[in-house]
Order: sequence, then C-alpha cells, then structure tokens
Amino acid sequence: MPRSNRNSRTSRDRKNAAGSDDFDLSQILLGTRQIESKRGREWNVQPMTAVNALKAYKCPGCELEIQPGVAHIVVWPNDGIMGAESDLRSRRHWHEHCWRVS
Ligand SMILES: [Zn+2]
Repeated sequence: MPRSNRNSRTSRDRKNAAGSDDFDLSQILLGTRQIESKRGREWNVQPMTAVNALKAYKCPGCELEIQPGVAHIVVWPNDGIMGAESDLRSRRHWHEHCWRVS
C-alpha cells in the first residue's frame, strides 16, 4: 500500500464533534491535500486516516463500501467553476487504489 502520508494530523481535542459531518469537513479543510490532474481536470486529493474515517462511504471506483476505520482518500474538483465550497460539497470518498487506476 503506498503511503504518501506526511503526518497531516495536528490533533488537538476534536472529540466533541466526532461523528458529525462537520468533523469530517474540518478534517478535510485542516489536512494536507494535494492537487492532481486527471482526465483533463484538477482535483484536490486529501488523505483520510483510519482514525478519522468514522463513517462508511461508497467508493465510486468499485461501488463497494469503504468501512469506517479504513484509511482512504477524499477527492473533489479544484477547477472552482461553482466555487470552492460547492466543489467541496461534491467530494467523493475513494479507495486510494481505485482512484489511482480510475
Ligand atoms: Zn473502491
């Protein structure tokens, strides 16, 4: 499994919000994201650590569930046509492998 994880967690106490979608979002916004080009578009690619993966998500690549507690990546467009916030709302959770081969 390729691990390009720099330590993206500046973990202070965020336990109160655990499980809510806001928690999810703040993890994304605070984390270390990278920009990747794929299929002629630019994408934000944000690693989600196992610790922060609190919910199950359906991976668009393989249509299978990413179970809670499984490290994966979050991907959303970086072209800003609809604005960064709207782009972020359209984010998808992928198995890292599925994104790489997509
Ligand atoms: Zn997948």
